Amino acid sequence: MDLGLKGKQVFITGGSAGIGLAVARAFAREGATVIIGARQKERVEREARTIAEEFSAETLGISMDVTIPEDIARAESDIVARFGGLDILINNAGVGTEETIMEAPDEKWYHIWDLHVMAAIRTARAFVPYMKKRGGGVILNTASICAKQPLYYEPIYNTTKAALVMMGKCLANELIKDGIRVNTINPGLILTPDWWKTAGILAEKEGTTAEAYLEAIAKENTPIQRFATPEELADFYVFLASDRASYCVGATYYVDGGWLKVID
Ligand code: NDP
Repeated sequence: MDLGLKGKQVFITGGSAGIGLAVARAFAREGATVIIGARQKERVEREARTIAEEFSAETLGISMDVTIPEDIARAESDIVARFGGLDILINNAGVGTEETIMEAPDEKWYHIWDLHVMAAIRTARAFVPYMKKRGGGVILNTASICAKQPLYYEPIYNTTKAALVMMGKCLANELIKDGIRVNTINPGLILTPDWWKTAGILAEKEGTTAEAYLEAIAKENTPIQRFATPEELADFYVFLASDRASYCVGATYYVDGGWLKVID
């Protein structure tokens, strides 16, 4: 299937590891120009170079923290200076949390709100004007199955991801008249560095190993009985961003091995 993504310019936040990196590689494979943003400068620049070499793609790695508005403004000027605009924006940067509502301080709520919700709003405000000038575009937000089906240990994560789903729905309604399609993806268990970190913390508390914890969590929760690889998820982003998904607007798609326990 020709997805028609050759030459399209795609910006992926959190594109230097895990899901974002797999998505960046999948777009590069389709001939797109790939821009990735993340905090650790050395890693984001290295991954951008690796993608460029492996897929003969044009790439750019931007060191940025999406919770800082000035960093988003700098990313905008870098991208516009080099590519003149943007076709596809993927708001993917995010982290799992661990707290109780009774104990978490306000600062933690505000920080994760900035990371999961305000960052997506600010990048949309930055890049939508360029999409409009080009006659359309695509925005995909990575939320989580936890937006609908919460995990007990991360109420701030669950709450902010639910807010991101609603923000995406409202933005889709606002932008479709300009030919910009907004959709949200709710992944289930995807084996990325973030899960290894979470498993390390929770396994220690439960007196087991990270590997055993991850295997147990997959067996307990998912009908498919395993984690997905980031690559299994990435192709779905590529399809949704392509014109082949032209009637997909304002929706939330679960890619979760059957984990969601209700119909949606
Ligand atoms: P990883 O921890 O593996 O990768 C996170 C990426 O985001 C890295 O590139 C990291 O780079 C970057 N990042 C983190 N914080 C910031 C920040 N403040 N500003 C810019 N970049 C940032 O995470 P995953 O790939 O697992 O997760 C990606 C997204 O998918 C997240 O939004 C997560 O909530 C969501 N998700 C993941 C699931 C899973 O099972 N893995 C399931 C459901 C949703 P750096 O540290 O250098 O900034």
